[in-house]
Amino acid sequence: MSASPTARLNIDLAALSHNYAALKRAAGSAEVAPVVKADAYGLGMAAVAPYLARQGARTFFVARLAEGLALRTLVGVDPVIYVLDGLTDPSAFAAQRLRPVLNTAEQFQLWLQGPSNVEAAVHIDTGMNRLGVRPDEVAALPDPGQHRLALVMSHLACGDEPNHPLNAQQLTAFRAAADRFPGVARSLANSPGIYLGPDYGFDLVRPGICLYGGGPFGLAHPDIQPVAHLSARVLQIRDLKAGESVGYGATFVAERDMTLATIGLGYADGLLRSFAPSGFVTVQGERRPLTGRVSMDVFTVDVTGMHVGDRTWVEVLGSSQNLDEVAAAAGTIGYEVLTRLGARVPRHYG
Ligand SMILES: *Cc1c(COP(=O)(O)O)cnc(C)c1O
Repeated sequence: MSASPTARLNIDLAALSHNYAALKRAAGSAEVAPVVKADAYGLGMAAVAPYLARQGARTFFVARLAEGLALRTLVGVDPVIYVLDGLTDPSAFAAQRLRPVLNTAEQFQLWLQGPSNVEAAVHIDTGMNRLGVRPDEVAALPDPGQHRLALVMSHLACGDEPNHPLNAQQLTAFRAAADRFPGVARSLANSPGIYLGPDYGFDLVRPGICLYGGGPFGLAHPDIQPVAHLSARVLQIRDLKAGESVGYGATFVAERDMTLATIGLGYADGLLRSFAPSGFVTVQGERRPLTGRVSMDVFTVDVTGMHVGDRTWVEVLGSSQNLDEVAAAAGTIGYEVLTRLGARVPRHYG
């Protein structure tokens, strides 16, 4: 990496392990199968997946076939890998023992025509209306015959809103549709689903965000520790006189004389533009507001009255401000904050 990076992302593997253990406790007898799509939500699948495998994870989910192929080389031959996108090329799945998640009747047929050693999951769409076979199409799916159907799954649309009526509707629809495949393992819950109660657990749960430090309901949760710690360095300190403006669009105008620090982190590094103006960062233990806009490489923060220098580091995300708070300040969700973290920010694991 570069000789003197201006930002760093520390990934706390002990916290990842803590969250995995907490999810196992919450999931009861269900297997906890980490979702490591999108480069493990931006935290780096190459480090995260083998680490979770060493912690005992035996089944993983990714979205894309290419992610599944990369994951196979990272975790070796033993773990089960499901690819959520569906089945395109059965021979590619066979070659690396990946399991497709079959989303349509056509994919189900394609699977049955391919090599019989490819095990698969079938995804039933119980209300998300995105991916999966509709419940009214399930009865018409052919008998798997020699092919092993290893999992029947569905996905919750509103798991992060515990009182949303769609949760119970999806649960009922899932049970009814899954009865078409007696003896096949079942999976419904993502991270929030695990916290909706034991009815949602079935045989296997598929957490992503809670492993990586997001609360199940978009708020901090006592079970879940922050994993991603993002800090950036002061590049320059400047004094601003009352009436002077800051940054693109001159959106911030100083009401009084003040001191600003320019920090080496911008939207090209994944700090969302929408983080300004309501966001803040932690400087020497104190919360300090952003001034002006987030630009590509830098943002500015009010450090009036502080003794900071051009080597001071400020925390953007981590212990002082968790993922859900950063997401709320930026008007988005923790998932987007993490998956936007840019390649320019070096990752450190420890
Ligand atoms: C991304 C995804 C998950 C993980 O969801 P989290 O809310 O991050 O726990 C689980 N299942 C499916 C089908 C997904 O697409």
